Amino acid sequence: MNNRVENLTACEKCKNICCCSSGCEISLDDLKDFNKEILVKILQTGIVSIDWWEGDPRCDYRGNELLDWEKDVPEDVIEEIKDIPLGVSKCYFLRIKNKNGKTIDPAWGGECLLHSISAKCLIPLEHRPLAASTIVPKDENHPRCISSKRYTKKVISLQYLKFHSIFQEIYFEIGVDYPYKDNSVEELLKYLK
Ligand code: SF4
Repeated sequence: MNNRVENLTACEKCKNICCCSSGCEISLDDLKDFNKEILVKILQTGIVSIDWWEGDPRCDYRGNELLDWEKDVPEDVIEEIKDIPLGVSKCYFLRIKNKNGKTIDPAWGGECLLHSISAKCLIPLEHRPLAASTIVPKDENHPRCISSKRYTKKVISLQYLKFHSIFQEIYFEIGVDYPYKDNSVEELLKYLK
């Protein structure tokens, strides 16, 4: 059970740095189900990008296994990927698109497409990706925001590793950028828990 948190006053003081740095990652835990057909439909909403961790989070740049890659990776995620060979060149994940972002977008950063200083996030808190909605904002007791260890970019990309071939297929098949539409958020909500 995840406790979602929202403290707009704290975020405002912080100038919404998180949402201005990138659209948040969408974990498999956020999705009702996942397969190739669903991935295409999610991309067609126009507000989701495929991004990736450069290389394999389990390996160094030479492709050798890192001794400590399992540190901070939840047991169930390790169990799911334990038989997947090391050495992928991209470890894909989904995230909310950035402003001017593309459907396939290994961006280094940018402001989230769904963020606006006045309206805040356009995804209702109860459906908001856990990578964003489980961050505990800094306050008088915590000098820094605290992110959930389960929803780091590394863990989320490792979660999708079992669907690597689906992402590879889409990566090569997709020939368009799906645009933002008036009902994009509504469409995405069909796939979010
Ligand atoms: S979807 Fe919402 S919470 Fe996630 S980065 Fe965009 S504005 Fe922030």
